[in-house]
Amino acid sequence: MEHIEFAQTVPVVAEADVLVCGGGPTGIAAALAAARLGCRTALVERYGTLGGMATVGLVGPLSNYNANGVRILGGIPEEFIDDLEELGGAIPHLPGGYVPFEAEMLKILAPRKLKTAGVQLMLHSTVVDAVRDQARLTHVVISNKAGFRGVRARVVIDCTGDADVAFRAGAPYEQSPIDRMQPMTMMFVLGNVDTESLGGLLMKPGGTPTTHPAIRERLAAAVERGELPPFGGPWIQWGSTMRPGYVSINMTRMRGDATDPDTLTEAELRLREDAWQFFSFLRREIPEFSKAVLVNTGFQVGIRETRRIVGEYQLTKEDVLNPKDFPDTICLGSHPIDVHHSEGTGQSLMWLKRPYRIPYRCLLPKGISNLL
Ligand SMILES: Cc1cc2nc3c(=O)[nH]c(=O)nc-3n(C[C@H](O)[C@H](O)[C@H](O)COP(=O)(O)OP(=O)(O)OC[C@H]3O[C@@H](n4cnc5c(N)ncnc54)[C@H](O)[C@@H]3O)c2cc1C
Repeated sequence: MEHIEFAQTVPVVAEADVLVCGGGPTGIAAALAAARLGCRTALVERYGTLGGMATVGLVGPLSNYNANGVRILGGIPEEFIDDLEELGGAIPHLPGGYVPFEAEMLKILAPRKLKTAGVQLMLHSTVVDAVRDQARLTHVVISNKAGFRGVRARVVIDCTGDADVAFRAGAPYEQSPIDRMQPMTMMFVLGNVDTESLGGLLMKPGGTPTTHPAIRERLAAAVERGELPPFGGPWIQWGSTMRPGYVSINMTRMRGDATDPDTLTEAELRLREDAWQFFSFLRREIPEFSKAVLVNTGFQVGIRETRRIVGEYQLTKEDVLNPKDFPDTICLGSHPIDVHHSEGTGQSLMWLKRPYRIPYRCLLPKGISNLL
């Protein structure tokens, strides 16, 4: 393979106490929290919209706000669903704690709230590198239509979902081997569905391996006959949409390493084709879908798993199944351990008796002092 040398001196166009990289659900919450604490905060996002998987990936419902019927998530996540409800864009108080919402409204709400809090938004800017002075990050390098640019930051929060900043900064990370990596999924939304007859639109408390067992059987038979590609679930429900007549569907599957650009390209192309095939099948075979229209596929494929930082502490299966208190607990979680199999279309769900805790040390990558 040919190699070239590439080095540039770039202008430093912004300076922040806290620089948040990635504007998905975690980046939005991190930036909002930092700005409200009085930090000069900037947020860099590669796309023109905020929300990450919840908007561009069409993933939903937001899970899980409850444990055993009791609300355990408060703060900014709760504020968001309450504000979305006010816009007519969320159903926040279902017993299961899963919150269907309107992705389009999250796209509007998130920048509104960040701007009100004083966050500097830098959209259409991709993090491409990180500059270190020994154990400290000094700058993050971004790329946008103006070229390469530097941003100076005292603290950097990596919310890229792929640990891009940690990776570029040389922090240690882990990645599952392909045969244990969870598959990618292209979500899609259908309209003109007879949702009243279809039912099963709301995720049951605890979640389920599929929302529609009878449809699953029909699909499985078609896969057996070689008429359809493999699928997971399917979860056909109110997730990233909650309008009568609309459903969001989680069922396409492809395993692979989404940090490999060729694999990612293949996933985008193949899974959008698969979504079309599933849509056509549902329309042809299932009466509630006979007049359905394909409203949209995800702007990008849904990625469940890539790099994981090696934190000062790593949460274990035991910590989740038999929760204990940590001196530095920063949040609770209650979604089951939910692993979509790399091979085939199965899913392993391990139910939780109690909410688990996550200690702050999990967010601190080894070897770098000012990166979360
Ligand atoms: C198919 C699928 C189904 C799921 N189902 C559910 C569900 O039903 N309920 C639920 O609660 N969760 C679900 N999840 C999980 C949920 O999507 C994630 O937990 C959530 O999106 C994590 O948020 P995040 O902000 O960490 O990452 P992301 O949502 O991935 O956001 C990352 C953000 O960073 C940006 N970014 C990435 N790289 C760069 C870069 N180099 N420079 C600048 N910006 C960058 C991205 O554009 C994006 O905006 C599902 C995930 C998948 C893939």
